[in-house]
Amino acid sequence: MTNLSDNTVVITGASRGIGEAAARQLAGLGATVVLSARSSARIEKIAEDIRTQGGHALARRCDVSQEQDVAGLMRFAIDSTSRIDALINNAGIIEPIARLIESDPDEWSRVVDVNFKGVYYGLRHAIPHMLERGRGTVVNISSGAATSALEGWSHYCSTKAAVLSLTRCAHREYGDQGIRVIGLSPGTVATQMQSQIKRSGINPVSRLDSSAHIPPEWVARAIEFLLDKSSDAFLGTDFSLKTDEGRKAVGLPLVTTG
Ligand code: NAP
Repeated sequence: MTNLSDNTVVITGASRGIGEAAARQLAGLGATVVLSARSSARIEKIAEDIRTQGGHALARRCDVSQEQDVAGLMRFAIDSTSRIDALINNAGIIEPIARLIESDPDEWSRVVDVNFKGVYYGLRHAIPHMLERGRGTVVNISSGAATSALEGWSHYCSTKAAVLSLTRCAHREYGDQGIRVIGLSPGTVATQMQSQIKRSGINPVSRLDSSAHIPPEWVARAIEFLLDKSSDAFLGTDFSLKTDEGRKAVGLPLVTTG
């Protein structure tokens, strides 16, 4: 198990799903976790719950589509704990699911603001602090959609492709200065997002049986792995939990054996 004592980890989209599971997992390893999302009450409650169990957790409201919110989140983490060791760029949305010509341009742009620009703002406002310290890790939550085309998901596929590009660019620019930037493609995960996908009925992912989805706790364990030096071979790429190589590295059941 990784020891994260004295580490501060900022997590966006921590009010439920993968972000909440990551906060609980990393706090359990000793990290001070800074939970953020738009639902203030929800992140306050999770942080309180983590503290009750002896962990260290803070909560700060942040809409990642607003640059000032993201800048404020990083300042809050640094002012409160004097450091940011890792940022988990996890916040993301997929609704409304619609084919291109039926999509609403404002809603489509909203997905760009959250999924793509939100990750850019995170990198833009965390990396300067990490460079001052000569170290830091950013995990960008990606998706198989970054490299595939799915009906009704033009906003989601193209923003996740853009996030993979940001991962590569940030690694190229700062990888030799102690900054570790890495993507994580988790496969399908049993969260609210999959319920929204199921309701849409548009493409084969919406027809998957719920047993096909992995629990968010597995993704949290993958995030733990990516914070450790043993994952260095994957820097600047999307690490995938849909391969046996990825599952084995994290210590999860293999894809081929379920
Ligand atoms: P989820 O349960 O729907 O959680 C999404 C999180 O993002 C929530 O905490 C939500 O909190 C937050 N969020 C949404 N809009 C936000 C905004 N503007 N600013 C800040 N936070 C915002 O979904 P999830 O499955 O855990 O998704 C987490 C990440 O995993 C996403 O990037 C998603 O694309 C990726 N992913 C998921 C799957 C899957 O199968 N579930 C597969 C591949 C990748 P608030 O609503 O409180 O703001």
